[in-house]
Amino acid sequence: MIKHLIQSFRAISFSQKQLLFILTINAVCLALASGLFFSTNVASYKANMQKSMAGKLRLVEASSVSALLFHDQEAATTILSAFRADSSVYHATIYDRDHAVFAQYQGENRFQVDAHKHERDGFYFFDDYFEARHTIVFEGENIGFIHVYSSLQEIDSNIQSFWYVVLGVFFVSLLLAYLLSMYMQRFLSRPITELVDLSHYVSSHSAYDRRINVRRQDEIGTLISAFNKMLDAIEDREKRLTEYNEMMEELVSQRTRELKKKANYDALTQLPNRNLLLDHLERSIRLAAHRNSPVHVMFLDLDRFKIINDNLGHSIGDKLLEMVASRLSSIVRKVDLVARWGGDEFVIVIESIKKPEDVVTIASNVINSLQDPFAVGENLLHVSTCVGISRYPEDGTDGDTLLRHADMSMYEAKRQGAGRFSFFESDMQQRSIERMQIEVDLRTALEQGQFHLVYQPKYHLQQSTIVGAEALLRWNHPQKGEISPSVFIPIAEEAGLIKQVGLWVLEEVCRQNRAWQLAGYPPLCVAVNISASHIISKNLPKAVAALLEKYQLSADCLEIEITENSLIEISDEIFEVLTELRKHQVRVAIDDFGAGFSCLRYLCEFPVDTLKIDGSFVEGLCQNKSHDGVVRSTVALGHSLGMQVVAECVETRQQFDFLQQVGCDILQGYFYSEPLSADQLAVKLNNALDA
Ligand code: C2E
Ligand code: MG
Ligand code: MG
Repeated sequence: MIKHLIQSFRAISFSQKQLLFILTINAVCLALASGLFFSTNVASYKANMQKSMAGKLRLVEASSVSALLFHDQEAATTILSAFRADSSVYHATIYDRDHAVFAQYQGENRFQVDAHKHERDGFYFFDDYFEARHTIVFEGENIGFIHVYSSLQEIDSNIQSFWYVVLGVFFVSLLLAYLLSMYMQRFLSRPITELVDLSHYVSSHSAYDRRINVRRQDEIGTLISAFNKMLDAIEDREKRLTEYNEMMEELVSQRTRELKKKANYDALTQLPNRNLLLDHLERSIRLAAHRNSPVHVMFLDLDRFKIINDNLGHSIGDKLLEMVASRLSSIVRKVDLVARWGGDEFVIVIESIKKPEDVVTIASNVINSLQDPFAVGENLLHVSTCVGISRYPEDGTDGDTLLRHADMSMYEAKRQGAGRFSFFESDMQQRSIERMQIEVDLRTALEQGQFHLVYQPKYHLQQSTIVGAEALLRWNHPQKGEISPSVFIPIAEEAGLIKQVGLWVLEEVCRQNRAWQLAGYPPLCVAVNISASHIISKNLPKAVAALLEKYQLSADCLEIEITENSLIEISDEIFEVLTELRKHQVRVAIDDFGAGFSCLRYLCEFPVDTLKIDGSFVEGLCQNKSHDGVVRSTVALGHSLGMQVVAECVETRQQFDFLQQVGCDILQGYFYSEPLSADQLAVKLNNALDA
């Protein structure tokens, strides 16, 4: 039971507890006060009754002495009848000295006298009446006594009204206690309720911005300010936590962005990488299928980039790629996508082309955009590109196929020369497979002795005598027969086989030259074509010197031909090699002069002995005025720089006459002779000797 009460007490609210406390204290105080008041009040009332009764008894005593002495009962009864004025008196009796009733008074209330209850004088209180006894004395002698019984109704009604008052006071004090407790709430329970509300708010909203005003300095005030301080600390920690979280979130999103970028963008050029390109291409294809419009894929490969990268170092190569990437990005439309496929290969996806000719314009723009040289550090680098183009839906309906076909057409463009573009054609696939086969076969061609050399004699233009020859490589493929060097040399360059091939040619030329000399022919200067990537491998001069020594040849028996383009590309490197070759007195010729990006400054600076005018100019002689002009000025230029000028691919009399007229020194071409085997050339040399 008590346990239950304690539990119930614990469960009620603070304000209810407070009210209960006040009421309990109030009730206890009231009980104590009313008890005290009651007892003193009743006692004083009784004392008053006794006093008043004592007065009445003395009056009756004084009046009844003579009646008793003279035994006048009537007079005594009359005396007693005076009690009639006091309604509280029930009964009064005068007894004579023998305790016999002498006179009596009976009030309206028929009260039963319990005679002689008390033998001694005094006042006696009973439950419902009050008894007074008084001895009547005359001259020291007891002559009788008086008994008066009176009602206690007055006291009872007094007690009753007292209780009414007590009850009234109790209820009023209850009300006051209630009001007081309500008022007290401002000081006690309300701040606590506010604290509770705030705690709920904090825990349910996780918000720490609210505070309770501290308006007091007592314990509750201290509690509130401690609570506020705690909230300050939490808010501060929360703030730092939020800042930290925000920082972490920012870091995570930055990392995600970086990872996304890493996954989709090329780190060097910042262009989209293969992943993004393939996604974009697939999206473009879907869109194009929906709109019934074409998509063009351009596959670009930088010409001669490998040479630059291998020889000038990767940092220069990287810088060049960055510059190429930004140039390409600057010329395409916003809707087009330029991506880096890898190495020196780029892909451009072109959407929404209105006229098919526009693709040609874009391809030309792409090629032309790389025409101006790139200044990388101290180097002025010339690069060009070949572009292969495939179209959706004609050349493929998925990204992979379109890219593969664009790549194939790019090789086709390369075959046609630097700075070309080519659209995909269905037979390219076959050609690409063949090309790959050639690469595979090339690797074993040297070991299996499938190469041989032919020599095209060079004639002195004025004297028509053989003054030298150019060694031209031939590949006798076991299945495919003779393959042109224009086909396999670029493949050998790309496959990294060109150096091996070049060294084989050099050795074979030296061996043959020595053989001719031993056979009694006069020393002949034989030109050897050396690719740019081979020439800059620094050990070429040493290899040449070693061969000359091995075959006991003088240095003027050998001429190294390098193309004009390779001369311009890596100037410093080539300059060093050419200077070194010159130190060994080996002659140097610039091949295909006029076909590349001529830079006259290099021409002045480089140690060059011979200029070979590109066959395409010779071909156009006497038909194309500008070709005439180029040839004429090249001859003049070569001579002014102290060089010998050779015209190659001379086929006709007209060309011959023109070249003779402009003073060209040496002539090479079908006009005199096609490339010959070593034996055939020996016959020609023999004839010349005989003549
Ligand atoms: P190139 O060094 O400019 O050689 C001249 C090319 O013109 C040769 O083609 C030759 O056969 C051809 N030719 C000569 N006279 C005439 C003519 O009157 N009319 C026409 N239309 N063409 C003529 P070939 O032998 O097919 O060689 C092509 C290219 O392959 C060479 O051009 C050279 O750049 C390269 N090449 C040939 N042999 C080697 C080699 O051993 N090493 C390297 N790296 N390249 C070589
Ligand atoms: Mg040549
Ligand atoms: Mg040539």
